[in-house]
Amino acid sequence: MGKPQKIVVIGAGPVGSLAALYAANRGDNVEIYELRSDLRDPSTTPLNFTKSINLALSERGINAMRHAGQPKLIEHVMGATIPMRGRMIHGRRANGDLYEESQEYDVHGRAILAVDRGRLNERLLDILEEMPNVTFFFNHKLTGADFRNNKAWFEVRDDPAKKQETREIEARFDFMIGADGAHSAVRYHMMKYTRMDYQQVYIDTMWCEFQIQPRTPSSDDITESKFLISPNHLHIWPGKEFMFIAIPSDDGSFTCTLFAPASLYEELESDTTGVSIPPFFDKHFPGVTELIPPSELIASFRRNPHLPLISIKCKPHHFGSSAIILGDAAHAMVPFYGQGMNAGLEDVRILFDILDKHSRMDELSPDADRSASRAHALAEYTAVRVPDAHAINDLALQNYVEMRASVLSPVYRLRKFLEEA
Ligand code: FAD
Repeated sequence: MGKPQKIVVIGAGPVGSLAALYAANRGDNVEIYELRSDLRDPSTTPLNFTKSINLALSERGINAMRHAGQPKLIEHVMGATIPMRGRMIHGRRANGDLYEESQEYDVHGRAILAVDRGRLNERLLDILEEMPNVTFFFNHKLTGADFRNNKAWFEVRDDPAKKQETREIEARFDFMIGADGAHSAVRYHMMKYTRMDYQQVYIDTMWCEFQIQPRTPSSDDITESKFLISPNHLHIWPGKEFMFIAIPSDDGSFTCTLFAPASLYEELESDTTGVSIPPFFDKHFPGVTELIPPSELIASFRRNPHLPLISIKCKPHHFGSSAIILGDAAHAMVPFYGQGMNAGLEDVRILFDILDKHSRMDELSPDADRSASRAHALAEYTAVRVPDAHAINDLALQNYVEMRASVLSPVYRLRKFLEEA
């Protein structure tokens, strides 16, 4: 394997943490720099301030964690998931009755898993913390990088409460892994060194989160489910222009998201009393006001941020032997395929598979230069991964139409009927 190298990971989100784990398992010295405080610290702004609380974990992401070389990671993560075997479509019949229709994802009963994003991230940080060759640097924001001389600069906040008081430090590295999200600073600085094609699109959809609370337990029925609706489905209230979804959490609650055009958000925001919000839900998402009290719908809409959705494609994902971008930094996508994080975790597995393959080839040659070998590996990674990243971005955009409208169309129903016949 040669002398340990210094690997600097930017971003301690799910993708950066998994990448750090893969690198540390290979015996290198790993430093993780994260803009925010440690998310396990109760005083840290909760992740759900800017990110959805729970998400869908699929085989793509599970497989990447399975290959991290830490059996307890997969045990811990899987232990806290809820299988979602299909979609549950909610609507109202012509006679006014509410209905639910289950659409299974798979004839063999295979499921995607609902997982708490914060807990998944915490598990990764806990495991990294136990590794002697990993060092964390929280409250360190990457502000500059020189990828020819392998130096990086960080703005450090020693006391996060004192936002104005910062100092700058310099760090050297052999290899930088940029997993610093959609607004990646690594990608921004990498663009100065390589002819990167870059495309960014904000779709005309905003999102905001709501909560369905667990059922209030009644003293006479101990078998009663804590979930108000089926826990084993991803619930969808489709609308032509917008959609409301709900994903289960293991405490019995559901995290719900309203996806709607910016103009509709503006219209609802202009009503400062919020009284138009419950009737809007009654008209478009039948039954929701029976699950979330109208006063809570109004409060959540006013309290929780209204956030945009970005889709990013770029190429290459690397520079020479010194840097790579992974996860949202390389391919932020709209969430309608439930694959953003899953694809980011898969990036890590594919990157290290390719790096390992090149290291094995080096072992055969005594004069091997590790940085030259990494340059070949990174070029191969870009060649393999970019077409897949672009494809999944496109599929995610297409699935918005599928989720909010096609699930109801007669053609969809006929197709499903023929598939299952
Ligand atoms: P991030 O999670 O964005 O982490 C980046 C980290 O880098 C952060 O901790 C940040 O603080 C840090 N950072 C940023 N800048 C700097 C800097 N300059 N210096 C140091 N650190 C920095 N994906 C799924 O797979 N399934 C789903 O069901 C799903 N649902 C979603 C629902 C919604 C509404 C949204 C918006 C997204 C959803 N996603 C889903 C996508 C998923 O959230 C992202 O793909 C995933 O979080 C990307 O992980 P990441 O580690 O690449 O980036």
